[in-house]
Amino acid sequence: MTEIQKNITKLHECIPAGVKLVAVSKFKPKELLLEAYEIGFRAFGENYVQELVDKYEALPKDIEWHFIGHLQTNKVKYIAPFVSLIHSVDSFKLLKEIDKQSSKNGRVIDCLLQIYIAKEDSKSGMDKTEYLQMIDSEEFKLLKNIKVKGLMGMSTFTDNMDLVREEFRSLKELFEQTRSFHASNFSLEEISMGMSGDWPLAVEEGSTMIRVGSSIFGSRS
Ligand SMILES: *Cc1c(COP(=O)(O)O)cnc(C)c1O
Repeated sequence: MTEIQKNITKLHECIPAGVKLVAVSKFKPKELLLEAYEIGFRAFGENYVQELVDKYEALPKDIEWHFIGHLQTNKVKYIAPFVSLIHSVDSFKLLKEIDKQSSKNGRVIDCLLQIYIAKEDSKSGMDKTEYLQMIDSEEFKLLKNIKVKGLMGMSTFTDNMDLVREEFRSLKELFEQTRSFHASNFSLEEISMGMSGDWPLAVEEGSTMIRVGSSIFGSRS
């Protein structure tokens, strides 16, 4: 087994059943993704539209592509034909554009809403009020080609694990608070939280999907 194959195998041994591993492969060459593919791994996360499209075109078609980075509305059209899950929907405007492009492709695209939980400005996401107002609006209920499957959050980049835990907990609380809300395009099942440095904590706090890059593929420096 290669290092990458060992890392994935080890992670699968550690994470509880019911938590899905997404391998974050941004900046990593296709050959390295294929190493993971060879042992049956299929879920890859990418941050940049052009890089994702290039990899989609070159790699096997049964790969499940997750978009996890900041998505500009004018680029949605490039990934709408094939993306499996968009984790990083950070505005109503973006969600509406995904709905439009999804409709053009005859699809329903699964989305997670990225919620701002960190104590630093560099992270993006909707704030809680914006989220609650959006799902309550008539305009939201009209979107037929997206399905909101859950929430995503990124914690503050810090060694203070108490703060990170508190942030993950706040996302889980919002998830529970809105879980009973039902619409034909809304059914909360997933919480995408946790990366290489904090996934064990995220899992303790209720994560169902972890996005792990450097612990699988090595650092990106
Ligand atoms: C890069 C990235 C990750 C993976 O980060 P690692 O620390 O390398 O595991 C996860 N989520 C998002 C949104 C990212 O941009």
